Amino acid sequence: MDTSNIFGLSGDILFKSRGPYDDSDFAGVYCDYIDAISLAGGIPIILPIIEDEASIRQQLQGVHVLVLTGGCDVNPKVYGEEPSPKLEAIVNERDTYDLRLIRIAVEMRIPILGICRGMQILNVAFGGSLYQDIAEVVSIAHRQTMKRNEPCHKVNVVSPSLLHQIVGATSLLTNSFHHQAIKKLAPGFIVTATSSDGIIEALEKPGDTPILALQWHPEMMAAKDPQMLKIFQYFAGLSITR
Ligand code: MN
Repeated sequence: MDTSNIFGLSGDILFKSRGPYDDSDFAGVYCDYIDAISLAGGIPIILPIIEDEASIRQQLQGVHVLVLTGGCDVNPKVYGEEPSPKLEAIVNERDTYDLRLIRIAVEMRIPILGICRGMQILNVAFGGSLYQDIAEVVSIAHRQTMKRNEPCHKVNVVSPSLLHQIVGATSLLTNSFHHQAIKKLAPGFIVTATSSDGIIEALEKPGDTPILALQWHPEMMAAKDPQMLKIFQYFAGLSITR
C-alpha cells in the first residue's frame, strides 16, 4: 500500500489571546502550511511545544519530514549576543523547543524544511548567528505590504544545489516577511540563494539527509505558483524508510 509522507509542523503558541477561553494559551500553525502540504500530497500534523526530550523524540517517531515554521524573533542570547533595541517579540519556550526538535530530528536523520524563522533557528542551532534587524544591511524591502501570496523580490539560486534541482531555475520571485537574516552561516551549511542586496535567502546542509531552509514563505505561494509547490512535492516524494 502506498502511504504519504507525514510532515510534522513545529507549532507556534499564542498567549491568552483568543476566544471565550481567553485564559488559555493556543498552540498551532498558520493554515497555509497545512494547505500547501496537502496540495503536495503530504499529510500535515502539528507538533505542539512540549518540554520533555523523550516525549519530543516520540513526537517525531512517526514524522517523515520536519517543517520548521515561521514566527517570532530568535532570542539573541542563543547565539551569544545582547538584545538590539530593534529586536521584536521573543518566545523563549519556542526557542527551547525548536532547538531540541532540530537536534533530535538530525539524530533521527529526518529530512528538514526550514521556513523563515525556521531557517534562522536552524542556522543558530548549528552554530550560526543572525542580524537582529536587517535594516542596516539591506537595500531592498524584505517586509512586503502586498498580499502574502504575491512576490516581493527576486532571489538568485545557486547551481548546483538541492534548491536548484527542485525548482529548476536560477532565479525565483519570492514573497518576503522578515526583519532578521543570517549573519554568520553555520558550519557545514552552504548558501543556495541570495537576494540582490546579498541577504541569504536559502541554505542547505549537503549530506545524505535533505536539509533545506528558505527565508521566504513558499507555503503562502504554493496554491498559485507551481515552483513553490514543487518544494513541498519534493519532500512529499522522498522515499523514507525508518
Ligand atoms: Mn527577503
